[in-house]
Amino acid sequence: MLILDKILISIIWHPGAPTSLFFEADQFLVFFVTRLIELVFTTLSVNIFILLLVMSIAADSTHKNHLRQAVITAANTTIQPIWTKSVLLTLSNPRLFLSKLNHQLRLPSDHLFSDISAQTALEKSDGNWDRVINPLASRCGTNITKMTAAFNTHIQPSFQACTTRKQSWRSWCSVLTWAAGRNALHLIMPMTLKTLKAMIWDMMSMLATHSVLKNIIDSVQSRHRRFQLEPPLSGPHSYTRFLKTLVTVQGKLQKLSYPIQKYMIHKLLTHKHTSLTEFRNCLATVSSTIGMFRPDTGSSLQSCDVLFNDDAKHGFLKFKGGATINVSHSKSDQIRKGHQIRLGRSKNPNKDLVYQLGLWMDIAKLRPRLGCTKESRKHARCPVCPPLFPKLQFGKSGQLTATANKMSASSFADMIPAALRCIGLNSSGYTGKSAKIGGMSIATEAHVPENIIWLQSGHTRKSSTPARGYIQLTDVSLLYKPFEAFGL
Ligand SMILES: [Zn+2]
Repeated sequence: MLILDKILISIIWHPGAPTSLFFEADQFLVFFVTRLIELVFTTLSVNIFILLLVMSIAADSTHKNHLRQAVITAANTTIQPIWTKSVLLTLSNPRLFLSKLNHQLRLPSDHLFSDISAQTALEKSDGNWDRVINPLASRCGTNITKMTAAFNTHIQPSFQACTTRKQSWRSWCSVLTWAAGRNALHLIMPMTLKTLKAMIWDMMSMLATHSVLKNIIDSVQSRHRRFQLEPPLSGPHSYTRFLKTLVTVQGKLQKLSYPIQKYMIHKLLTHKHTSLTEFRNCLATVSSTIGMFRPDTGSSLQSCDVLFNDDAKHGFLKFKGGATINVSHSKSDQIRKGHQIRLGRSKNPNKDLVYQLGLWMDIAKLRPRLGCTKESRKHARCPVCPPLFPKLQFGKSGQLTATANKMSASSFADMIPAALRCIGLNSSGYTGKSAKIGGMSIATEAHVPENIIWLQSGHTRKSSTPARGYIQLTDVSLLYKPFEAFGL
């Protein structure tokens, strides 16, 4: 009875119901029957949709469970498997867990399990390679084999950025796990196109998205190249075509990132900060937007990378009160060519970013230290100066103080939505990318020449535009155009 009541109420309260009290009886009958059919159909289709969704999730988890069981059976070991939280079933200890199986199959262990994702000693030195190489060289001597091995360990991995290598290893662990469960460990190094297709099909049926599959394919391809084996996608354009086919079927989900807008920069600069954290977050967001840099660049900046009055000191007196930010290394500049970002002097003293950066360094005690090496070695990390936007922690006195530790790129990215929340804005949809997107968009809208935007944002080495690397502006004032676009 209750259900019948609900149906009647839903029919009578429908927006399409005849409103006049004097409608004809047959008009009401037609409306009543149509609405009843519509209601039954809607309820049924919703239920069928939910049923299909539950069935697909259940099928996916059953599929994954079957694979998990198959991996455990194939490994036939007392060692405990450690699973990651990835969409695809992935072992985080494949070398150990699959060692018995690998021993039985007599496969080259290096091809399957060598992991070069950790930062090398030379990479850790952050440009100061000449100070690190001597102890390493004295350990390996002058034996040719040992020197080749040293090159392979300490230099060869840098053919890819460390973050790319980490991603590649995670994806390769998924490949190893899949291969163990499908009795195909002997088929993955080298891998034929036939095996690649089977693997991708299997992974797609476990609901791996396009980006997950692309990482898998990239890890397979780059591993083959590393061991000088022919990759499964080796013909001309075969890699591009293969990925295009996948993306046509799957679609590509893009994470939403709104750009930081000009009025937000004005608000962030005039905001009355209540804590050191707020001050840091607001300044980091403003600097990243005007400087158009990514979170990994922002987190690597040191206080000695801010060169106050640099152009004025070099004779360009009209830029007194401005500053140059030295970016020694970024993801789009793996060769440490470096680039400089210009910050001008604001007309409104309450919105003066350069002044606020100086104030921030004084309050947080971040001014460059004695023995700073930046002047002579702009491309390398200075061993004595603190990060410009460091991690903060509570000191012994209970006061929040700056530490000497740099933030990770992801914590730096988190500062951007946090800064927007401090000025009372809804930060959903804003990410670490928002600053660079905002900065480049604002400069473009203000008709700053494209070449200047590329120079400011450090995109000087794109292979399609090698000429950018040769541009040396004779008129420095053009470099201040992106800053002027913010109207501060
Ligand atoms: Zn320094």
